[in-house]
This record gives sequence, C-alpha cells and structure tokens, in this order.
Amino acid sequence: MAEIRNCPRCGRIFTSLGRPICNKCLETEENEFKVVKEYIYDNPGATISEVSQETEVSVEKIMRFLREERLEIKSENSNLLLECERCGRGIKSGRFCDNCKAQINNDFRREFGMDKKEPAPRPQVKTDKDKMYTATRRKDN
Ligand SMILES: [Zn+2]
Ligand SMILES: [Zn+2]
Repeated sequence: MAEIRNCPRCGRIFTSLGRPICNKCLETEENEFKVVKEYIYDNPGATISEVSQETEVSVEKIMRFLREERLEIKSENSNLLLECERCGRGIKSGRFCDNCKAQINNDFRREFGMDKKEPAPRPQVKTDKDKMYTATRRKDN
C-alpha cells in the first residue's frame, strides 16, 4: 500500500511501501548494517561503542538496526529525552543507562549470532537471559 511520507532520516518525501524510511536511506543503512555485521563477525568481543567507532556507524543507528529487525519504529522523538530507553532512568548522555547498556550488549551479540561462536558451553541451565527482559521493557507512547 503506497503512502506518501517524509523520511524521518533525511526529510525527503517518499512513497512508503511498508518501509519506514526512503530508499536512499534504506540503501545506506543496509550497507552500514553489512559493515557492522562484518565487523562484529571479525571482532566478536567488540562492544557497541567499539563497533561504532570502527565502522563509523553511530551507536543510535546500530541500536536501530537491532530494533528495526524486529519492531517498527513508533517514534523518532525518543532521543529528545535524556532518559534510558529501556528502563526510563534519568541519564546524562546517550540513550541508555549503564545497566541497560550492558544488557543491550548482550542482546546485540545474540542478534548477530555471536553467542553461537562461543566455545561449547558447560551443560548448565541458564535462565538469566529471560530475566533480563522482564523488568526493562520499554514503553512507547
Ligand atoms: Zn531518507
Ligand atoms: Zn536503563
């Protein structure tokens, strides 16, 4: 279903075919996504900020990649507020509190399949990855 919109990234008017951004931005982001993914593949221990520095893709964008793979963007305004996007805690800079940053890094690694590369784990029942999500769900208005 065609719909005329303003691209939230570059401001251009474009025809949305279920896409949140224009083709140009989409193309750029796909390239960036590839670069990020490759970097992570080669550097499985990297944190988001390291990846961001090395790939010159902003942390925000990397985070968006993660979200957009699963979720639609509901608001482009969340970066106007200096509060943690996950738990709502007040923060001085960035988008996430330290706590959530650590959790996000875990999500991030899972998202890119980095966990799979880790040496065979001990056969242990692990439930903490489920716990992570329960308290920190983000509310979109
Ligand atoms: Zn655009
Ligand atoms: Zn937080």
